[in-house]
Amino acid sequence: MNQNIPLNLYTVNRPLLGTVIESRRLTPDSRGPKNDVRHITFRFEEKLPYLPGQSAGIIVPGTDSRTGKPHKLRLYSIASVGAGDLGDHQTVSLCVVRHFWDNAATGEKGIPGLASSYLCDLKPKDQATMTGPVGRHFLLPEDFKKRDLIFTATGTGIAPYRGMLRELFETGYEGHVALYFGVQYRDVALYDDEFGAIQKRHPNFSYYKAISREETNPNPNEVPTRDNKMYVQALMYVHRDELKKSFEKPDTMIYLCGLKGMEAGIFPVLEQIGAELGEKESFVAKLKSRQQLRIEVY
Ligand SMILES: Cc1cc2nc3c(=O)[nH]c(=O)nc-3n(C[C@H](O)[C@H](O)[C@H](O)COP(=O)(O)OP(=O)(O)OC[C@H]3O[C@@H](n4cnc5c(N)ncnc54)[C@H](O)[C@@H]3O)c2cc1C
Repeated sequence: MNQNIPLNLYTVNRPLLGTVIESRRLTPDSRGPKNDVRHITFRFEEKLPYLPGQSAGIIVPGTDSRTGKPHKLRLYSIASVGAGDLGDHQTVSLCVVRHFWDNAATGEKGIPGLASSYLCDLKPKDQATMTGPVGRHFLLPEDFKKRDLIFTATGTGIAPYRGMLRELFETGYEGHVALYFGVQYRDVALYDDEFGAIQKRHPNFSYYKAISREETNPNPNEVPTRDNKMYVQALMYVHRDELKKSFEKPDTMIYLCGLKGMEAGIFPVLEQIGAELGEKESFVAKLKSRQQLRIEVY
């Protein structure tokens, strides 16, 4: 694992002030506010060291009326490569979805999340205070150059892979990387153009989308999914021969990022792959114990 991980350089007591230089909606307006996902780039006066896969904390101004204390920090995965979108080490980009929730106690529905609304409403030239970087686990290994990598994402869980993929291909990556991205509709696949362009340039990158509301799971008996929808795990099952080739190599790594609960769908497929490779014990446990499985779900 990387020995030089920048950590907690900025804290709640000593935050970093960033200025928004870009806020771009990544999904069509026609998909409504619940599918409002933004790519937001902040620029700093100084250089901010970070690694793809780390997160930044966002401090929402004001106090929580329930506690009378400052709002709790919210974490967001960094969606840019270490040098930042501008390449000068002075920016960080986030990929934020507007969160809405229902209050069971009061019956109120569709309440906008505090930090995600704050971030999505920011305009260029607005300023925000941030902390971080944090996270030492969801990172590329230092010796990634020849390793096969499998990235799986749902929703904004795609964010860290945007930076990681740039890191890989800007430094002469020679392994094979597969990205499995679970989305509801084809037109809400975040950064789809960017991933498509990388795939065209690099035959060692495979980009696959599981489009749950437009595609059907062809193997519902083997991999049950709700209403037979096409989820990431169903697509991974279809591709298990290709995945087995990667997992035959002893140093292949798999990453899961996005919705809490996605592990429950993907782990059985990994176990199936392990069994077909002759594993007698749990393949997931083996991958975990060998640090080859990385999970960031929220
Ligand atoms: C490591 C990590 C990385 C993350 N990366 C990303 C990312 O890249 N992109 C992204 O969009 N998100 C990411 N998140 C999620 C993000 O941190 C926030 O949790 C998310 O944006 C919702 O925050 P919010 O302030 O908008 O919602 P909040 O206002 O905090 O609401 C969140 C939940 O809190 C509860 N709640 C809030 N207020 C009340 C109340 N008054 N009474 C009762 N319950 C209440 C509700 O259950 C609600 O659903 C990440 C989280 C983690 C831990």
